[in-house]
Amino acid sequence: MAGVDHDLTDEQWTVLKASWGGCAYCGATEGPVQRDCVLPISRGGRYTLDNVAPACGPCNASKCNDEVTSWMRRKRLDERAFLVRHAEIRASVLVCVARVAGDQVRPAAPAPRPESSPTWCT
Ligand SMILES: [Zn+2]
Repeated sequence: MAGVDHDLTDEQWTVLKASWGGCAYCGATEGPVQRDCVLPISRGGRYTLDNVAPACGPCNASKCNDEVTSWMRRKRLDERAFLVRHAEIRASVLVCVARVAGDQVRPAAPAPRPESSPTWCT
């Protein structure tokens, strides 16, 4: 961890994955998603809520160190829709994580976590 600022929390990542409901880039819902840096680490990106999106294996491998908008254009993916949704989800994750944290303060009030509902916190 030496000096590397990876400040996406496990809670944020869990809600982020649930909010996207699959790969942020191509929409694939099969298979596991990985933390992908929208702005690659090699270009100054970091593992923060602002900069992480869930990506399926093929997208993650294909995008690699590319800049996201040029990569999405090359793949004929809708980068504009991605950027809009990325901003919306980032905002809702902050609200949702704060709400879940608040819920956990009260005993016997577990937050509902249905496996496949991306809207469980809205
Ligand atoms: Zn994908």
